Amino acid sequence: MTRDDIRKEIPSLAIVVPCYNESEAFSYCLSQLGQCLSDLIEEKKIQPNSSILFVDDGSRDDTWDQIKAAVHEISFVRGLKLSRNRGHQIALMAGLSHAKTDITVSIDADLQDDIRCIPVMVEKYMQGNDIVYGVRNDRSSDSFFKRMTANSFYWFMAKMGVQQVANHADFRLLSRRALQGLLAYNEQNLYIRGIVPLVGYPSDKVFYSRSSRIAGESKYPFRKMLALAIEGITSLTVAPLRLISVLGFAACFLSLLGSVYAVFRKFCGEAIEGWASVEISIFFLGGVQLLCLGVIGEYIGKIYMEVKRRPKFLIQEEIGNSDKS
Ligand code: UDP
Ligand code: MG
Repeated sequence: MTRDDIRKEIPSLAIVVPCYNESEAFSYCLSQLGQCLSDLIEEKKIQPNSSILFVDDGSRDDTWDQIKAAVHEISFVRGLKLSRNRGHQIALMAGLSHAKTDITVSIDADLQDDIRCIPVMVEKYMQGNDIVYGVRNDRSSDSFFKRMTANSFYWFMAKMGVQQVANHADFRLLSRRALQGLLAYNEQNLYIRGIVPLVGYPSDKVFYSRSSRIAGESKYPFRKMLALAIEGITSLTVAPLRLISVLGFAACFLSLLGSVYAVFRKFCGEAIEGWASVEISIFFLGGVQLLCLGVIGEYIGKIYMEVKRRPKFLIQEEIGNSDKS
């Protein structure tokens, strides 16, 4: 602890790990995080009742069996099984809402994020921060495709007015009040990394370089990344709807100019040549209209999902001593 620590009470910590078909990565993940947690407890940086909470997001392999075995063997391991696969963001929210500790650290099961940041995050919490973001300082371990799509994603999000911490995924520490703040954003369209900065409270960053997946393959193919990007934009900003008005206005203005030009040509006695230009503009405008309707439809779809207030997830099983919370 440093002299400027403003928090005096040693916190209880829950490390929340969403897992989907992580059979190959699980045992390494468990041993590494287990070691990290034991060291922190031994150094009296966190309470002995701290825990690791694995959330099984409806895996189809033996991930849940491995979690169950770990819970029986190791006292600080807890498990939560969702009724079916609901996606990383919801699995993480499910885990966070069951943590019930002073602080939580969320991390992916593939340990691409550097677990040596966890003690630093705890230290920064003791210095008075409520949110500590894990931020990647390089993406050299990612494939060219992943790097390119991720960079375009952050660029596009920023252009759309979504403020988020660049190169920060879901590796972060949250204090109890920051977590309660996050949980109060009770929306179906979940893009956690976009909501956390809206929660506020003092925050800091920890930088690290991201390594490759320890085992298994990415559960985020391009299709899911695109869905996450659309989720992020539509859940945090109405900029695309505004853009549609601008597009519509620009199209009207252009067609007005076009008709002025056509009248001018008519008066000059020149016949209008060919239909190509007419057809192109019809197709173009038709396309723009369909696109715009699609964007509006996307938002209406979101409203529809929100008003139904369906449960985000259902818990099939919760194991591990609940007084560890
Ligand atoms: N994950 C999940 N549900 C899903 C997909 C992924 O809980 O439907 C978990 C996965 O087990 C991992 C984390 O989310 O712990 C991040 O997934 P992954 O590492 O495959 O994503 P990438 O790092 O490739 O973006
Ligand atoms: Mg990963």
